[in-house]
Amino acid sequence: MKFIIGNWKMNGNMDEKESLLSAISGIKTKNKVVLCLPYTLLYGENFGISIGAQDVSNHDKGSFTGDISASMLKDANIQYVIVGHSDRRLYHNETNELVKEKATIAIKNGIIPIVCVGETIEEKNSGHTTSVIKKMLLESIPKDGEYIIAYEPRWAIGSGLTPTNNEIVTAVKTIFDNLPNPMPILYGGSVNQDNALDIATIPYIDGLLIGGASLKSETFLPIIKSIN
Ligand code: PEP
Repeated sequence: MKFIIGNWKMNGNMDEKESLLSAISGIKTKNKVVLCLPYTLLYGENFGISIGAQDVSNHDKGSFTGDISASMLKDANIQYVIVGHSDRRLYHNETNELVKEKATIAIKNGIIPIVCVGETIEEKNSGHTTSVIKKMLLESIPKDGEYIIAYEPRWAIGSGLTPTNNEIVTAVKTIFDNLPNPMPILYGGSVNQDNALDIATIPYIDGLLIGGASLKSETFLPIIKSIN
């Protein structure tokens, strides 16, 4: 079983969501398909796939205007939440410490966090990929419970660029070797229907996190089908 997780980021509306979910519900797959949607689209119909959020507060409740808590997500039947996506780290200055708190509170509320880690192009070019990933991982992962790690090189997100298979194996083996317990490891960054199967079958890879190509059935369905 592989995870195929879509991340809509700040895109989409009700009609687009319903049309994609009903298209996916027509596919038979042995894999776990999850769609991480913007907050406005998080409500609990059952299309036979799991729904995830893209962020969560590190607080239980209270005076945090604009934030959404893990218990609110749970109440809306949400099973997964992305934490530490590079968009959040970059545009909201999220630190490893904050990411860890978010992952921890998600687990406490019965939601599986998808913890994102990945190097910038400068870090890659200066030969620091392994040490950067290791540090992000060790500082971002929760102490206990079940979670998913997504290896997403920042420079590969939305750029059409992907690491070589060897670079991916090196990075995900680093993650595998540094996890206290085995957890699923995903790859994310410019996955499309032409490279999905190749990347999904790299050793240590348990699935894919897909941004742009998850927005429309014409691009997302061929990925789901190719990994069957
Ligand atoms: C992402 O934003 O998590 C992502 C992987 O995006 P894309 O597939 O568009 O590179």
